[in-house]
Amino acid sequence: ATPSSNSPKRQRRGQVHSTLNAVRPNIWHRIQEDRRQLPAWSCKDKLLELVRENQALVLVGETGSGKTTQIPQFLLKGGLAKGGAIACTQPRRVAAVTVAQRVAQELGTDLGGKVGYSIRFEDTTSPETRIKYMTDGMLLREAMIDPLLSNYKVIIIDEAHERTVGTDVLLGLVKEVLKRRPHDVRLVVMSATLEASKFISYFPGCKGALIHGRAFPVQLYYTARPEDNYLDAALNATLQDRISAMQLARSKAIAAGQLPTEEEQDNSPQQPEELLVYTIYAAMSHEQQLRAFEPAPPGARKVILATNIAETSITISGVRYVVDPGFVKARSHNPRLGADALQVVPVSQAQAQQRSGRAGREGPGKAYRLYTEQAYDSLEPATVPEILRSNLASVVLQLKALGINDVLGFDFLDKPPIPSIVRSLELLYSLGALDSQGKLTSPVGTSLSRLPVDPMYGKVLLAATSMGCSIEAMQVISMVSTDGVFVVPRAKREEANAARLKFTSKEGDHLTLLAVARAFAELPPKQQTSWCHDNYINIRSVRKAQDIYQQLARQLHQLQLPLTSCGEDPTPLRRALVAGLFPQSARKQPDGTYKVIATGQQVFIHPSSVLIGKKVDCIVFSELVLTTKQLTTHCAPLPCPLQKAGLCHFLFSAGMQGT
Ligand code: ADP
Ligand code: MG
Repeated sequence: ATPSSNSPKRQRRGQVHSTLNAVRPNIWHRIQEDRRQLPAWSCKDKLLELVRENQALVLVGETGSGKTTQIPQFLLKGGLAKGGAIACTQPRRVAAVTVAQRVAQELGTDLGGKVGYSIRFEDTTSPETRIKYMTDGMLLREAMIDPLLSNYKVIIIDEAHERTVGTDVLLGLVKEVLKRRPHDVRLVVMSATLEASKFISYFPGCKGALIHGRAFPVQLYYTARPEDNYLDAALNATLQDRISAMQLARSKAIAAGQLPTEEEQDNSPQQPEELLVYTIYAAMSHEQQLRAFEPAPPGARKVILATNIAETSITISGVRYVVDPGFVKARSHNPRLGADALQVVPVSQAQAQQRSGRAGREGPGKAYRLYTEQAYDSLEPATVPEILRSNLASVVLQLKALGINDVLGFDFLDKPPIPSIVRSLELLYSLGALDSQGKLTSPVGTSLSRLPVDPMYGKVLLAATSMGCSIEAMQVISMVSTDGVFVVPRAKREEANAARLKFTSKEGDHLTLLAVARAFAELPPKQQTSWCHDNYINIRSVRKAQDIYQQLARQLHQLQLPLTSCGEDPTPLRRALVAGLFPQSARKQPDGTYKVIATGQQVFIHPSSVLIGKKVDCIVFSELVLTTKQLTTHCAPLPCPLQKAGLCHFLFSAGMQGT
């Protein structure tokens, strides 16, 4: 079923679906049998009754109990979506996609029929679609056009325990929708953790329900000492478990004063099995993600390297062992810096429990926690809601576009810090999206709220349309919106770097990415694969960027903005970049580091930037990534006349006036 890599995308997806849905009827029957075994199935009637009788319901059930895949189907069959559809929101795109695919498979239909998904830059739904899995961001966008969400009879906010910004804003909005459509819409909030009381007391007259899951015992192992290299430790834990399960069992048993049981000895492999390593993370293509779901062939064992995507939102069957390094890469916002940073931070206890719980879904399992038991005790009990630690500019802009003017007074489940809100209002004002009264401006503010990109990049695009280079701006934005365009294999670092030189622009990363996008766009489709291979370019990233480009082009068309090109002259594009990114400009210091002009924060150019080691006085950048220090990604030098005139400061303050 592996599709050939150079057939067009649409066709490839079609192949995957027909293989899954039509060709193997025996699999379909097995799936129906499996469904009936799910804990959700046994409380189907009770659940329907509860939803019928209560406008709002909070449903708690362990991961894997069938909430996401089954509840929407129950509600549809139970007639609760008569005259409308069911929306089921997910914090993550990949969850929306894999779950929709799974449900289509369960219903024996193709995506875009009764079930479909809608995520940023991709919509597979049709007018027939009754169950729509979507990211919370997409439902927010729909609310902008239709504040009462009148297409939906049931709104399911799933994975609510994750408390993403999108979830929190949706909860506030839907609360209002429930008030205004008292007899016509229902809400189900679904969560994998027991802390449901907060949700229940937030919605008037809300009820709570619990699905009793089946969970097998999971044996927990902690390390004796803190690990200084969790990658090594993870590798050891994985390999040790395979190669020396018997020795491990024996030494543990001996340490505990027992001898290993017969069973332990029998279960231990005599020789190592083949390890098949898969990765799964949000930015991957769907075809690739599906590979991690395929069962391991006999004699082999799957090792899945996953981000926290595997914590609760997707279920891969067959998992018996979990190795938990105890960290999570979280987006957090520092209101003083005025920037977002991706940071690796310790997990919360709730997250650690979710992770280890995944080992006990189908049988007794083991979880290796790569930290000490004391370290576990000192972790935060629950994850801090994202809204309390992230960039609120897009959120505030969306609330404004939803007609919620008093953002400070919005009924948040947890109110973000006032300085964060104020800082976002300032940023939006400086971009010209809000007027001095804090009202959404037209057309800048309304346009920015409709563009599915960060408001700063949205402003780049708007500036580019008036400077005659919207095509180039879209190419750049689509490229910066995808990860990992350049492939740098460890063994071929020099070749990869040499290949990149062909595209490298002294005008920075944006124009370098533009050169790649342009070269790729000119290729005949047959040559794309070999060209990418020869040039160390990730073909998936570039294809993804092309998809995003198409989306943006459609948005521009809807906003009646022209498609224009500046040809070979980079100046208009560079100006447009500064027009949007000026709040994130930094100036070189005598010691060679950079200082963010707006905040005074010390930053360094990211090692992957083409500007690294170049003499550039003033730069603008996309965002800050915190590793051991603050690194700026996607850097561009400020155009020369501005630098010469020492206009960095002026530029920032001019921007603040919205000029
Ligand atoms: P919950 O939302 O309660 O965590 P789900 O509805 O996502 O549970 O999953 C229920 C069960 O359906 C899983 O335990 C798994 O057996 C099966 N399942 C879900 N998604 C897939 C998939 N993409 N492929 C195969 N099985 C799946
Ligand atoms: Mg789920």
